[in-house]
Order: sequence, then C-alpha cells, then structure tokens
Amino acid sequence: MGMNTVSRQRVGEKIWTIVVAAGSGSRFGSPKQFSLINERRVVDWAVETARLVSDGVVVVLPADQATREGGVVGGATRSASVRSGLAEVPDDATIICVHDAARPFASEFLFDEVIDAVCAGADGAVPGLPVVDTIKFVGENNVVISTPNRRDLVAVQTPQAFRAKTLRQAHAHNPEGTDDSTLVENNGFRVVVVNGDPLNRKITTPEDLNWARAVSRGEV
Ligand code: C5P
Repeated sequence: MGMNTVSRQRVGEKIWTIVVAAGSGSRFGSPKQFSLINERRVVDWAVETARLVSDGVVVVLPADQATREGGVVGGATRSASVRSGLAEVPDDATIICVHDAARPFASEFLFDEVIDAVCAGADGAVPGLPVVDTIKFVGENNVVISTPNRRDLVAVQTPQAFRAKTLRQAHAHNPEGTDDSTLVENNGFRVVVVNGDPLNRKITTPEDLNWARAVSRGEV
C-alpha cells in the first residue's frame, strides 16, 4: 500500500503502542528482553520500531527498571502488564497496538499491516503464520482429545492492533489471556489475521537469542 493511501486512511487516527517488557523470563532463565543483540537490548529494538509508527509509546517494565529508566511498572501476568500500559495511554488514542518486547524484529511494515486492517474496519488485527506441525488438543494422562484441521490454524504474533475502545472494553474486568486478541474475541469483536513474518520470532530460549544475534550480524 502506498504512502498516500496510508496517510489518507489514517487521517484523524491517533495511534499508541504498548510494549510489554515486564516478564521474568521463566523459560529463558533471566529476563530475555534485556539481553543484548548487537549492543542494543531486545526491548530497545522493539521500542524503536514502535516509535516509528506510533504517536506515542508506553513501555511496561519490571519495577526496578521502570524506576531507573522511566516506564510503567508491569503486573504479575502479561494481561495485567497490558492493563498497566493501558492506564497510561491518553484518552484521545483511537487505535492501540500491543507488542511483546521479546519480538525485536517486528517490522514497520507489519505494524502498518495490522493498523491498516483496523483503519479499514476490523475491531482488531493480528499477524498469523501458517502452522507446519499438526497440532493436537491433549487431555489428562497425555491422551489426545482431538486434532484440528491444520488448514484452519495460524500461529499468532504481535504487534496486535485494536480500536482503542474495544481493547479497553475487553480488559475492563481484568481477564487473562496469552494475547490481547483472545480477550477481544471473547467479547464478540471481529479480529482479522494479516500475514505474519517468520523474522518476527519471539525470543524465548537461548537458541532464539543466538539466532537473533546471527540475524543482526547478517548471518541468517
Ligand atoms: O511470557 P510471554 O512470552 O508470553 O511474554 C510475552 C511478553 O509479555 C514479553 O515481552 C514479556 O516481557 C511480557 N510480559 C509482561 N509482564 C508479565 C509477563 C510477560 O510484560 N507479567
């Protein structure tokens, strides 16, 4: 989509992004969002791109970092951290994006894709990638309950964009979900999927960090 189309569509929109970086990195062993990729922290990569596409950015951090570098103090869960961020987003924001600090390589293009989908009328938009593995619902004692059709599945990333009042309403009663789209869907709103990006990988394990460092050195 050309620049003119984007700016015409976005007239009157005020776009804010919440970057959540308050996790403890329990699977990684330490808060992965503060590891360095090419001398910049994982979170700094994410925030830098968010600033390019937003009128304002709220960074949600663990308490000690928030005190040191100025940011909002996060909560015990991802959803609680998003709510800490939401409280700091001005009332005149019309579109709110939520982005995981742990995804350093989300592109400006990807932010534009989800924002444009909301400008075009969706309540929310999320990037999704086709699933290559067969996915199973598993119950007690590791017994398989069922197998959804792989063609109907996507693996979802952030940034996720929402109409501001929709996101605020979805969070109103302090629900929990592993992403924001879940909460918005559960309120009956319409969330659309745009093409995700394999480079927008979440840094979850030390291998992911090694991969990200290799990408930044141009080796991948
Ligand atoms: O744990 P998960 O990988 O889903 O975390 C996604 C993002 O949410 C990370 O960037 C993490 O720092 C953030 N998070 C947070 N507050 C929490 C838990 C996770 O800001 N309590």
